[in-house]
Amino acid sequence: MADSELNRRIVSCGREMFAGIYGETPSLFDKGRWLGKLMAWSMSDEEFKTRLFRFVDVFPTLSTDRMVADHLEEYFAGAQPPVLALLRQAAGVFGPFGNFIQRKAVSTAIRKMAQQFIVGENTTEAISNIERLRHQGFAAVVDVLGEATLSEKEADAYVDQYLNLIGSIERAMGRWKPLGAGRTSGSMDWGHAPRINVSVKATALSCLASPMDYEGSVAAILRRLRLICRRVREVNGFLCLDMETYRYKEIILEVYRRLKLENPDYPHLGLVLQSYLRDTDHDLDNLVTWARENCLGISIRLVKGAYWDYEMIRSRQSGLPEPVWTMKAETDAAFERQARRIMENSDVCHFACASHNIRSISAVIELAQELAISDDRYEFQVLYGMAEPVRKAILNRTGRLRLYCPYGPMVPGMGYLVRRLLENTSNVSFLRQTFVDAAGAEKLLEDPVHVVERQRLAVQPRLREGAKPSGKVIPFSNEPVIDFTREEQRQAFREHIGQVRNRFGRKYPLFIGGQQLETEDLLPSVNPSDPSEILGWVCQAGTDEVAQAIGAARKSFETWRDVTPEIRAEFLLKACTVVRRRIYELSALQVLEIGKQWDQAYADVTEAIDFLEYYAREMMRLGSPRSMGKVAGETNQYFYEPKGVAAVIAPWNFPLAISMGMVSAAIVTGNCVVFKPSGLTSIIGWQLVEIFREVGLPDGVFNFVPGRSGIMGDYLVDHPHVSLIAFTGSMEVGLRIIERATKVQPGQEMIKKVICEMGGKNAIIIDEDADLDEAVPHVFNSVFGFQGQKCSACSRVIVLDRIYDKFVQRIVALAEAVPVGPVEDPANLIGAVAEENARRRIMNYIEVGRQEGSLLYQGQVPEVGFFVPLTIIGDIRPEHRLAQEEIFGPVLAVMRARDFNEALAWANSTRYALTGGVFSRSPEHIAIATKRFRVGNLYLNRNCTGALVGRQPFGGFRMSGAGTKAGGPDYLLHFMDPRVVTENTMRRGFAPVGAGDGSSCRKR
Ligand SMILES: Cc1cc2nc3c(=O)[nH]c(=O)nc-3n(C[C@H](O)[C@H](O)[C@H](O)COP(=O)(O)OP(=O)(O)OC[C@H]3O[C@@H](n4cnc5c(N)ncnc54)[C@H](O)[C@@H]3O)c2cc1C
Repeated sequence: MADSELNRRIVSCGREMFAGIYGETPSLFDKGRWLGKLMAWSMSDEEFKTRLFRFVDVFPTLSTDRMVADHLEEYFAGAQPPVLALLRQAAGVFGPFGNFIQRKAVSTAIRKMAQQFIVGENTTEAISNIERLRHQGFAAVVDVLGEATLSEKEADAYVDQYLNLIGSIERAMGRWKPLGAGRTSGSMDWGHAPRINVSVKATALSCLASPMDYEGSVAAILRRLRLICRRVREVNGFLCLDMETYRYKEIILEVYRRLKLENPDYPHLGLVLQSYLRDTDHDLDNLVTWARENCLGISIRLVKGAYWDYEMIRSRQSGLPEPVWTMKAETDAAFERQARRIMENSDVCHFACASHNIRSISAVIELAQELAISDDRYEFQVLYGMAEPVRKAILNRTGRLRLYCPYGPMVPGMGYLVRRLLENTSNVSFLRQTFVDAAGAEKLLEDPVHVVERQRLAVQPRLREGAKPSGKVIPFSNEPVIDFTREEQRQAFREHIGQVRNRFGRKYPLFIGGQQLETEDLLPSVNPSDPSEILGWVCQAGTDEVAQAIGAARKSFETWRDVTPEIRAEFLLKACTVVRRRIYELSALQVLEIGKQWDQAYADVTEAIDFLEYYAREMMRLGSPRSMGKVAGETNQYFYEPKGVAAVIAPWNFPLAISMGMVSAAIVTGNCVVFKPSGLTSIIGWQLVEIFREVGLPDGVFNFVPGRSGIMGDYLVDHPHVSLIAFTGSMEVGLRIIERATKVQPGQEMIKKVICEMGGKNAIIIDEDADLDEAVPHVFNSVFGFQGQKCSACSRVIVLDRIYDKFVQRIVALAEAVPVGPVEDPANLIGAVAEENARRRIMNYIEVGRQEGSLLYQGQVPEVGFFVPLTIIGDIRPEHRLAQEEIFGPVLAVMRARDFNEALAWANSTRYALTGGVFSRSPEHIAIATKRFRVGNLYLNRNCTGALVGRQPFGGFRMSGAGTKAGGPDYLLHFMDPRVVTENTMRRGFAPVGAGDGSSCRKR
C-alpha cells in the first residue's frame, strides 16, 4: 500500500495528468469516427460485440466476394444494415451494394481497424510510420506479428523477418536524430536508450515448445534467439522477450536467464513480467536475487497481462488453480508493489512501465521520485494505436515514452487485433472507464490496495455462506490435468519411470475369489519401444481358471447384490484415493508398457479417477427407488438390480481408464466381475487387483484372469453363468462377441447383455474459412496423438478445395518437425505402436494408401522397436480402402472436397459413427454439421479426442458401438435390470397418505 503521503502525491499527479488531457478522447472511442461508433455499439451490446470480433477474426480468410457476403449475412443477420452503413462509411463507398462493393467496403474497413493497432503491413510501411512517430517525440519497440508457429520453416521465417527488420531499421536509422536531443548528446535516445528496440515472442521460435519437454523447448528457442540477439548486439539495439500465456512462463524465464548468462556484459536485454499472475512477486524476487548473485544487469518491462480471459477459461477447463488474480484491483495493486520492488533494485534492474492506466503510471512517477531513480533507469511504454491522450500526458510529464509497434500482414495480426479490441472494450478497462463510462478521477485514482480490501470484505460473507458444509457429496468435477510447468511434476515423472524400471521381471498371478493363483503359462509384457525389455511375466488363465473365476463371482454376487448402493459407491471413492496417491507410478507404467507419451499416460489415469468418482455419484443417484404415479391406494416403486456375473474384456489403448470404467460400473451397480485385460497391458490390468484389494473390496467381487484370447476368450463369452459382457475393442471382435452372446447355452438362465464400444473411421472437415493456426495442430494431435491408436483418433481429414494446398503444406511441415522415438524421453512426441502385428498391419495399409492416393509425407523411424513412420497420404477418395477401413496407426488420409456438402457426405460415408470434427467459422455450416454430421461425439473447432467423463460422454453407434456412452448419465443403466414393485395399500377402503400422492381420498 502506498503510505498516505505518497498516495496523496500519486493522486495529485494523476489529477494533473487528467487535467492536461481534459476533453480529449482516444481515436478508438471517438464517436465522430466510424470506428468509435462501432466500438460504442459493441460496448452497449455484448452479443453484437461477440459477433463483430468473431467476424474480424475470420475476415482475412474470406477470399471471395461470395464468402464475405455469406459471412456478413450469417454473423449480422438482423443487425446488418447499420453495420454495413458504418463499414461503407469507413471505406468511403457509396451507391448500390453488390457483393463486390460489399467486400471492398468491409475489407477497407477491417484493414483500417487493423491499421489502428498495427504500424505497418510491411517493413517499408512500418519504418515510415515509426519515423512519423519519432517526429512526434515517441520512441518505438517493434514486434513482428505472429501467433502460432507450426513448423521449423515458419520458425526460421520468423527469425528472418527479425533480421530483415533490424537491417532495415539500421539503414533508416542514419536519418533518425536521437530523441531528447538538446538535452542529451550521442546517438542514443534520451542519451541512454538504443534507437533500435525489438520485442520477440519466444514460442514463435520453436514449433514444438511445450512444458512437458522443458529442456528441449528452452534449447530450441535459444538456438534461434541467439541469431536475433547477435544481430541486435551488432546494431547496439535492445531485445525484449515478450511474456505469453502462463503455460510458457517458466520456459521464457529460463530462456532469458540463459541468454543473459551468455551475454553478461550486454545491458540491453529485457523480459516482460505480468502483474496479473499470482506467481510474479515470487518470480521477480528470484530474478533480482539471481541477477545480483551473477553480477548481471537486467531489464524488466512490467505489464498487467494480455491473456486474462484465456487464463481463466483454460484453468477452469483443466481443473488447475487460476494462475491470475481474479479482482482487477489485485492486479493493479500487484503492479504498484512490483514496480516499487524493481525500482528499489534499480542498480541491477532497468524498468519499463507498460500501462495505459493513469493511476498506475502516476504511482511509478511518484515512486521513482521518492526513490530518486535516475531517468536512465526507467521509461514508460504504451501500445501503438491506443490511449492517445494518455501517451501525450506521459510524454509531457516525463519526456520518455516508447510505443509498442507490431507490424506484419493482417492474417497473423488478427489475434493481436482481437486482443486489443477486447482489452479496450472490457468493463474493467481503465481506458473504457475513463473515456467511455466517464468514471470520476476519485474512483479512477483510488489506491488499489483500498479497493482490494473493500471488495474482499464485500465477498467474504458470500464465501462463508458457500463454504458451509451441505452434508452432501460434493458434485462431480474432472480430475485436473498434469501441470508440466512445475518442475516437481516433471521430476516426479522421471523418478517413477525409474522406479517402474526397478521392478522389471516380476511375475504377476491371477486373482480369483480373493486368492492369488499362479499358472505355468506365462506371457511376457514388453516395452514396445524396445521389445527386448521385459516388464514382467503374466500368468495366463485357461478355461479351468476362467470357470473358477466365474464360480467365485457367482458366489459373491449373492451377497454383493444386496450391499447398499451407498456402500458400493464408497468402495469406488476409496479406490480414487489410492489411484490419486499412485498417479505417477500408474502413468509411468503406461509409458513403458504401451508407449504412451507422458501427458497421455497421465490423462489415462485421471480418466480412471473420473470414472470412479462419476459412477459412484451416479449410483447414489440411481440407487434410491423412485415412486411412480400418484394414485391413492397404491405405491409403485421403480428400482434397479444388478444382472449377475459381468465379463469385462478391456483394450490396451486406454489400459487403466477403460478397464477401470467398465469394471467400476459393473461393481458399483452390484455385479461381480471377471476381468480379462489385454495381453499387451496385463501389468497395468494387475493394478486393479492391487487397488481393489487395498480398499477391502469383498473377495470374489473382482476377479483378474488375464489369458490368451484364442484359448479362453470364447469360453468366457459363451459361459452360461455370464450375464453381461462389457467390451471395448475392434469391430471384428465386438461383432463376434455380440453374435456368440445371442446363442443361449445349456444351463443359461438369462439373456446376455453386451455393452460394446468398437472402432471408428473418424473424419475432421476443414472448411474454407477455418483458422489453420488452430486446425493444423488440432488435427495433428487428433491423428497422431498416441500414434493414432485411440478409437476417437482422426484418420481422414476432408479439406475444402480452396484451402487444401495450404492445409497440406502446413500439416506436412509440422510432421517434418516432430521427433519420433521412445516416449520415455518427453522430447519424442511420437512413439512406437503397440506390437509387431500392429506394425505390420499398418505398414500394409501404408502400401495400400500409396497405391490409392499420393504420398505427401512419410517420416523416419528408429531401428529398434515397433515404430511406424508418420504417414500422410493425399488425394484419397471416399471409395478407397484408406477412407473406409480402420487403421489404428499414425496414418492420415487427406481428401479434397468440392464444397461443404460434399465434405459432409464423405464424412458420413463409412459404416462407423464414433467421433468427428469440423473446423469452420461459418455459423451456418456449424449448424448444418451439428444436425447432419452423424457421429456419437462431434467436436467443433477442436480436436476430436480426449472426451472427458461427465462432460463429453463417449461412444458411437452404427458399427462403432451400441450407443452406451461411457461417462454419461445413462451408462450404468446398461448394467442393471429395472424392476417395479406395486403394492395395494388400501385396507377396507382406508389408505395411508403417501408422500406426494396428492390425494384427498381418505375415509372420514
Ligand atoms: C509496451 C507494452 C508491451 C506489452 N507486452 C506484453 C506482453 O509481453 N505480454 C502480455 O501479456 N501483455 C503485454 N502487454 C499488454 C498489456 O498486458 C495490456 O495492455 C495491459 O494489461 C493493459 O493494462 P493497463 O494498465 O493499460 O490497463 P488497465 O485497464 O488498468 O488493466 C487492464 C488489465 O487488468 C487485468 N485484469 C482485467 N480483469 C481482471 C480481473 N478481473 N482480475 C485481475 N486482473 C484483471 C488484465 O491484465 C487487463 O489487461 C503489453 C503492453 C504494453 C503497453
